[in-house]
Amino acid sequence: MSNTIKTRFAPSPTGYMHIGNLRTALYSYLLSKSQGGKFILRIEDTDQERLVEGATDVIIKTLEMTGIDYDEGPGVGGENGPYIQSERLPIYKEYAEQLVKSGHAYYCFCTPERLESLKDDKGIGGYDGHCRDLSAEEIEKNLSEGKPYVIRQRMPDEGTTSYVDLVYGEVVMDNSELRDQIMIKADGYPTYNFCHVVDDHLMGVTHVVRGNEYLTSTPKYCLLYDAFGWERPNYVHLPLLMGKDEDGNVSKLSKRHGAVSFQDLVNDGYLPEAIVNYIALLGWCPKDTNQEFFTMDELKANFSIEGLSKSPAVFDYEKLKWFNSEYIKKLPDDEYNEKALPILNELCEDYINTRKLGELLHTRISSFSEIKDQVRFVTSRLEMTDDLYTNKKNKTTPELCKGILEDCLPKLREVSDWNNDTLFALLKDYSAEKELKAGAVMWAVRVAIARQGITPGGATELMEVFGKDETVSRIEQAINELQ
Ligand code: GLU
Repeated sequence: MSNTIKTRFAPSPTGYMHIGNLRTALYSYLLSKSQGGKFILRIEDTDQERLVEGATDVIIKTLEMTGIDYDEGPGVGGENGPYIQSERLPIYKEYAEQLVKSGHAYYCFCTPERLESLKDDKGIGGYDGHCRDLSAEEIEKNLSEGKPYVIRQRMPDEGTTSYVDLVYGEVVMDNSELRDQIMIKADGYPTYNFCHVVDDHLMGVTHVVRGNEYLTSTPKYCLLYDAFGWERPNYVHLPLLMGKDEDGNVSKLSKRHGAVSFQDLVNDGYLPEAIVNYIALLGWCPKDTNQEFFTMDELKANFSIEGLSKSPAVFDYEKLKWFNSEYIKKLPDDEYNEKALPILNELCEDYINTRKLGELLHTRISSFSEIKDQVRFVTSRLEMTDDLYTNKKNKTTPELCKGILEDCLPKLREVSDWNNDTLFALLKDYSAEKELKAGAVMWAVRVAIARQGITPGGATELMEVFGKDETVSRIEQAINELQ
């Protein structure tokens, strides 16, 4: 199966899953799965200063929740493990030494002070190649004195290095612009710049899919492949994810635009399926179809590199909301209840019929976090004014409504079978008897108990939600206030 495509997702465990990273994982996964390939998860934790406890679990959980399943990786295993870089340190050392031997890398003993002195006043400074040509004796002496050292990649002095990115096309770099970057640090840990190349090769990765911030450093990685005599992988760099600024401009998606981590979006009430569907379309579009809704299987069937765009994609929270509301509407009742009921039960008094209330909200929310606001009229008695009773269409006035409420209150007190059908019949009969529009009676009762003009559900549905005692009590209060 040597032609099998293999991709990977290689996040650094920084504590949360940025939406941009999740999109990278998704595209990498889809590229592989659209062609029956394999997908690897590799944890890049060699920057010990940036380690966050529990961060790997967040990554694994996010992939699990979004249905991005990996064939090799932590917890799953595979023939190319371990899949956590900090568990692979001897491998990197061995490969770095190999390049030292072949002359593509060298030991550098420069002190931090010396490197500091190379920087300009903006704090920017490259390395001047001071240790490039140390003699074998000098190196031996430094090592025997226990001097700390790093291993650097020796960049060619002239010529160019180029590669063809499958999204961006040819990228050419003058070698003279490439600095002798560090491969192994003084603490023995490898840098990302070095170890990801070793891993991608050893793990058999055929397509490197990642953010385009690596587009221009990739020539350096290509030189590493060349130095080892390895075949270079294909590169698929992805356009940036942007957010809309208040002034109408766009900038790299960050916290000031809103929630940017997968978990925060979930906490805000977005469904993983809706998030995945939406971000799949942020930089990719399917060929020959205007389809907007995709299951993971449909994404796998439709994905191709040709559909990827070079231009930055703008994250639009309104559009995500719309996707989410459509996904919520499509949720089967039991799944919807599983999410909505705990929230409603937490917010509402015991006598509230939360199941019924949840039903009324099912098609009216675009995220579960909206429930709290939507049910404020249930969880408290809102301030209201008499003009809410005035309705042109039903020809109601506060005076008319007051009469209706006074008539209906004793009838409602008598009802033993408190449900929508009984209550509806009761109000309907009453309106017929009084030769009133049914709409007028419903209006009066609905406004009196909800204390707001727009509600999920009609009068009798809300009466069922409130239950008899609360309905009666709210109507009593309304009559008093109408005095
Ligand atoms: N650990 C790198 C990051 O999170 C991975 C880049 C890559 O995919 O090569 O940015």
